[in-house]
Amino acid sequence: MDFLQPSTLDEAIGLKAAHQDAVPIAGGTDVMVELNFDARRPPALLDLGRVAELGGWEVRDGHVRIGATVPYTTIVAELGDVLPGLAMASRTVGSPQIRNRGTVAGNLGSASPAGDAHPPLLATTAEVEVSSVRGSRTVPVREFYRGPKRSVLAADELITAVTVPVKKGPQQFAKVGTRNAMVIAVCSFAVAVDLEERTVGTGIGSAGPTPLRATEAEEFAATELPWESRDPLPDTVSREFGQLVAAAARPIDDVRGSADYRRHALSVMARRTLGWAWREVLG
Ligand SMILES: Cc1cc2nc3c(=O)[nH]c(=O)nc-3n(C[C@H](O)[C@H](O)[C@H](O)COP(=O)(O)OP(=O)(O)OC[C@H]3O[C@@H](n4cnc5c(N)ncnc54)[C@H](O)[C@@H]3O)c2cc1C
Repeated sequence: MDFLQPSTLDEAIGLKAAHQDAVPIAGGTDVMVELNFDARRPPALLDLGRVAELGGWEVRDGHVRIGATVPYTTIVAELGDVLPGLAMASRTVGSPQIRNRGTVAGNLGSASPAGDAHPPLLATTAEVEVSSVRGSRTVPVREFYRGPKRSVLAADELITAVTVPVKKGPQQFAKVGTRNAMVIAVCSFAVAVDLEERTVGTGIGSAGPTPLRATEAEEFAATELPWESRDPLPDTVSREFGQLVAAAARPIDDVRGSADYRRHALSVMARRTLGWAWREVLG
């Protein structure tokens, strides 16, 4: 197996064009597991770890741009104020060792429906920056997933960054697993309330072939939240929101949980997270 190790973004993109079957490796927390289990034997690995352009984050024009090799640990430590939902989700990923290596771009590259970064990215209308020798494009995360572990990435493309709008309002993330830590989600849910735009974004994890949005729940909450009065959230509203989120899921029965359990858990998580978020608004 060849090991390609570019030190600039141009070089990385050129190598990906020349070796389209080379597997990019960021933190390696998914790739190395697959190699170790012999589930994958690519002709080459394309290590992105030395590409300085991919290693930082910045806030610009109301958006946070997170480079493709920024690990979860950095998001937890440095971005909790501006991206609370993504920081909460990042905190639940694996163990400290996995968070020190693993990246949001790697989560997108794997495109597993159970990836913890997807729900908050969906809820906040994040965008994925993608580059190749043909040029760069921006893909709304809501259009990024194509099926279980499949995305719109072409064979010659690399993810260069994820851009997340800074929302004016509370965000929450919840995850159900078979234990409290170091666990793949049985299902997960993120909500992002935007007090300026008066919108509510949602993201559902591990309850469908791809990460999903609950569009009807978003529309219902945008209409029913007491934006003007800032009154406490009526129980009927949070319950209906939970039901609509559960109805948007497309779960299956598998070793981690049944479809019925996932729908039930999602309705509870959605009800609770919206309630927690609105309580933050009340202060
Ligand atoms: C013990 C353990 C626990 C884990 N727990 C969790 C968990 O709780 N929650 C969770 O969501 N995940 C978990 N994971 C999975 C993994 O840590 C995450 O999916 C992580 O986000 C992967 O990031 P990475 O940088 O390590 O990706 P890598 O392994 O480097 O890459 C993953 C995939 O993305 C592709 N890729 C990487 N970077 C790019 C790029 N810039 N452009 C194009 N493609 C790219 C790779 O080719 C590969 O297909 C766990 C893994 C382990 C081993």
